[in-house]
Amino acid sequence: MSKVRNILNGYLCGVKRYRDFGDFMQEVFPFKVQKISVNAGFTCPNRDGRKGWGGCTYCNNQTFSPEYCHTGKSVSEQLEEGIRFFSHKYPDMKYLAYFQAYTNTYGEQEKLISLYEEALSFSGVVGLIVGTRPDCMSDELLDYFAQLSKSKFVLIEYGMETTLDRTLKRINRGHTQEESEEAVRRTAGRGVYIGAHLILGLPGETREEILHHAEVVSALPLATLKLHQLQLIRHTKMAKEYAEHPGRFYLYNIDEYIDLVIDFMERLSPDIVVERFVSQSPKELLIAPDWGLKNYIITALVDQRMVVRDAWQGKLKRK
Ligand code: SF4
Repeated sequence: MSKVRNILNGYLCGVKRYRDFGDFMQEVFPFKVQKISVNAGFTCPNRDGRKGWGGCTYCNNQTFSPEYCHTGKSVSEQLEEGIRFFSHKYPDMKYLAYFQAYTNTYGEQEKLISLYEEALSFSGVVGLIVGTRPDCMSDELLDYFAQLSKSKFVLIEYGMETTLDRTLKRINRGHTQEESEEAVRRTAGRGVYIGAHLILGLPGETREEILHHAEVVSALPLATLKLHQLQLIRHTKMAKEYAEHPGRFYLYNIDEYIDLVIDFMERLSPDIVVERFVSQSPKELLIAPDWGLKNYIITALVDQRMVVRDAWQGKLKRK
């Protein structure tokens, strides 16, 4: 009961103290929009040998595919199922097709474009969100997205994960920080929204180094940023490393993590939309940390503590 009371207090404390994704969507669209994840059956160059083998050490791709995303189903079938889920409640809602699983710009260009176009031709779909690696974006595909962005919403989400080359190497990402920044620079100025994704708490990173990521990404022309805590997932290389050397990891408890996120946002440019700061992998796949709280509760706790601390996004950002 006291948890619920705390959450309500958080909501009653006023407007959000950071730029949130919902507000951003309202700025862009005059109607409600919902993301629908699609798994278009792409693969990943960090798993098939093109960039590396075995993938990033934390990755088990099962963790980010909702149940309706089966590669056996076409993009249209997945959209139909996803949209059916929401449309009975909000008949006027529009949708963004979210190409999320694996590397969604990796493949033959014609094939990639035909899948994006299939999604865009589905009734009610008003744009695309495309998740990918920074080392997997050709100029030709960027030209296509630039053209598309004249009539549709396009957000390209780059998985940066960290800004430290040392960590990128350690987690076997197969790209460098320079490649991440270069991808963002090449995408900028083409009318496409640019997003980035970071994991807070990767092994070997100090609290100060994590907070420094905020300063590095603030210098980039990003529209959106997704943050989430390091999660140790079953059947990954990182899970094995954790079992063998738990001392190499520091897993934040929820209280510490909330303060970390707020400290991070205080150093982050107020222009960047913070799309989320937690993630929840399916319980059966999660080893740790198991905070036992839904994402919306953690969000409410962050909102509430920002009020208590009188914190806001960009408060400590250096000019
Ligand atoms: S996290 Fe992304 S880039 Fe890394 S192995 Fe998984 S799908 Fe590939």
